[in-house]
Amino acid sequence: MQKNNKNNKNDNNNFFNQNPLITFAIFSVVIILLFKTLVGENATLNSTQGNQRVQQVSYSELKNLVATKSVNKVEIGQSYIKATSADGNTYTTRIIRGDTDLVKELDKQGIEYTGFSETNWFTEMFGWLFPFLLIMGIWMFFAGRMQKNMGGGILGMGGSKKMINSEKPKTKFDDVAGVEEAKEEVQEIVDFLKYPARYVEIGAKIPKGVLLVGSPGTGKTLLAKAVAGEADVPFFSVTGSSFIEMFVGVGAARVRDLFEQAKKDAPSIIFIDEIDAIGKSRSAGAQMGGNDEREQTLNQLLAEMDGFGTDTPVIILAATNRPEILDQALLRPGRFDRQVLVDKPDYEGRIKILKVHMKDVKMDKDVDVEEVARLTAGLAGADLANIVNEAALLAGRKSQKTVKQQDLFESVERAIAGLAKKSRRINPKEKKIVAYHESGHALLAETTKGAKKVSKVSIVPRGLAALGYTLNTPEENKFMMQKHELWAEVDVLLGGRAAEEIFIGEISTGAGNDLERATDIIKSMVQTYGMSDVAGLMVLEKSRQSFLGVGGPAAREYSDKMAQDMDNFIKTSLDERYKDVLERLNEYSDAIENMVKLLYKKENISGEEVREIIINFEEENNINSKVEIIADEIAEELKQDAKMADDKEKEDEQ
Ligand code: ADP
Ligand code: ZN
Repeated sequence: MQKNNKNNKNDNNNFFNQNPLITFAIFSVVIILLFKTLVGENATLNSTQGNQRVQQVSYSELKNLVATKSVNKVEIGQSYIKATSADGNTYTTRIIRGDTDLVKELDKQGIEYTGFSETNWFTEMFGWLFPFLLIMGIWMFFAGRMQKNMGGGILGMGGSKKMINSEKPKTKFDDVAGVEEAKEEVQEIVDFLKYPARYVEIGAKIPKGVLLVGSPGTGKTLLAKAVAGEADVPFFSVTGSSFIEMFVGVGAARVRDLFEQAKKDAPSIIFIDEIDAIGKSRSAGAQMGGNDEREQTLNQLLAEMDGFGTDTPVIILAATNRPEILDQALLRPGRFDRQVLVDKPDYEGRIKILKVHMKDVKMDKDVDVEEVARLTAGLAGADLANIVNEAALLAGRKSQKTVKQQDLFESVERAIAGLAKKSRRINPKEKKIVAYHESGHALLAETTKGAKKVSKVSIVPRGLAALGYTLNTPEENKFMMQKHELWAEVDVLLGGRAAEEIFIGEISTGAGNDLERATDIIKSMVQTYGMSDVAGLMVLEKSRQSFLGVGGPAAREYSDKMAQDMDNFIKTSLDERYKDVLERLNEYSDAIENMVKLLYKKENISGEEVREIIINFEEENNINSKVEIIADEIAEELKQDAKMADDKEKEDEQ
C-alpha cells in the first residue's frame, strides 16, 4: 500500500510538472472541497448520534419551533444553532447576529439553552492548515512554471539531484578537433585528475576553475567531457540558467548538492554551462536591488570554490560566450583564474572537424573536404557536424550508398541560409573593417613598450557582439601593472579605431567597447591608483572589493571641480594618445596591409606571424620598434652625458 502510494506520487509528479495550471486548479478544488466537507460534517457531527434525523431549517422556522415549544433543548454556537426535540430530532440553522429575541423567547418558554464551541482540534488544525496549503499550492504553481523547461520536480523541492547530470563520458581528445591550443591547455588538468597524488606531494597548485570561452557550438561541452573521458573520472554537469529560474534559496541549495556529489566522487569534473547566467557582473545588471536568487547562487558557488583546497581533485570547468560580463569575483585567483579559448575554427580547423564527423559516415571517394571547409568560414563545430549529418540524411533519402560532394554542397547551402537569417555570418565589407581594426590592435601591441604581446589575431566571427578579436597575453602571470603598462594598454585599445580611420576612412561602431575600456583605464589611474596630477595621491573612488567583491557604486566623495578636472584629463589624454597611435599606424601602414592580407587568407594568425611581418617591415625600412628605441636612445644619451661630465671633472682636477 505504501509502495503504491509512492509510485502514484511519482507519476503525478510528472503529470503535474507538465501542467502547472491544472495542478493548481486541482489542488485548490481538492483543498476547498476537503475543507468544506470536513467543516460541514463537523457541523452535523455531534447531532447524528443514533438514527435520529437531522434537519436543516430556516431561522424563522427555528424561532417558530421555540415559540411553539416543539423543542426542549437549544445549543447556540458561533455560527449555528442546534435545537433538539423530545423525540430526539435535531434542527439546525445558521445564526443571525444581533438577534436577541430568540434568547428572550427561550427564557419565556423555559427551554434549556447552552452555548457551545464549534471548534475542536480538527477544525482548529484545519483553520491553520488551509491557508498554509493554499500558499504551498501557489508557490508550487509558480515554481512549476519556472521549472517547466528544466524537468525539475514540482513537488520535489529536493529535486536538485535530477538537474545535475552525472555520467562517465567516453569522449576523448581525438573527438575534439581544431582547438589544439585549448587541448594543450587542459592536458595538465587531465594529468592532475589521473595522478592527483603526484601533484599534491610536490605542492603544485592546480587551477580549481577554468573558464572555457567561445561561441555556442564550438565544442566547449565536448572538450570538458573529453577532459573527464581522458582522465576517466565522473562528469557532473549543470546549466547556469537552471539555477536561476527558481525561487530564492533553491539555486544555492543546488550548488551545494552539486559540490557535495562531486567531492564524494572525487577525482571528478564539474561542468557549468552558460555560467554567465549566474555570474553576470553585479554592476552590469544595475537593476535596483539586483537579482537575489542569482546573487545567492553566485555567492554559494564562490563559497564552495573557496571551500576546498587545491589538494581536492575536483576541477570546475565553466563555459561562457561573454567573459567580459562576468563578475570580477569569479575571476579571482583560486576561482576561475584561467581562461581557455575554444573558438570558431579556422580553415585548417574546419577540415579537421569535418574529418572527425565524416569518420562514421560512408563518404564518396571524390568528396573534397577542403572545398567544404572553404565554403564554411565562420561556422562552428556544431554547424559542421550538422552539415555532415544532413548530407548523410540527404544521401539516404536518395538511396545512395555513399555521401557525395553534391549532398555536402546542398547541406552547406542550407546551413548557411539558416545562419544568414540569424545574421551571424560576416559580410565582406564588415570583414574588411574587422581585419584592419584587429591588425591595428596587433600592431600597437607589438610596437608599444609595456604592452602585452599578441598571441592570436582572428577575424573569425565570435557571435553577434565580437566580429573579430586580438588576443593578448602578458608575458608572465601578472597581478599588478605599472603606469607605463596601463598607458600601453590604452594605445593598444585605440589602435583598432585608428586603423579604421586611416585604412577604411570611416569609423564603425566596432570600437565602442575599446573606447569604453580605454576611458576606464585612464579614469582608474586618476581615481584609484594616484597616477595623475589631477588628484595626486588622493583616492577618489574606494576600491569596491569587499569580501566577495560585492558592493554597489559608492557615493561621490569629491568636488565638482575635481570631477571636471578629471573629465578634462581623460579627454586630453585620449586625444593625445590617439594622435600618437595614428602616427604609428601611418608609419607602419605597409605592415598593416601585410597583416590584413594574411588574415584574409588564414582568418587566424598567430603572434609569431604578426611579429614576423613587423620585423620584416622594420628591416626593409630600416627602423626599429619605435618606442623601445626611444628608451634605448635616452639610456644612451644619459650614458654619454655621464661620461662627458666625468671627463670634464677629470680635466678640471688636472
Ligand atoms: P558548446 O558547448 O561550445 O556550445 P558543444 O560542445 O555542445 O558546443 O558542441 C556541440 C556538438 O558540435 C558536439 O557534440 C560535436 O558533435 C560538435 N562539435 C563542436 N565543436 C567541435 C569540435 N571542435 N570538434 C568536433 N566536434 C565538434
Ligand atoms: Zn577593438
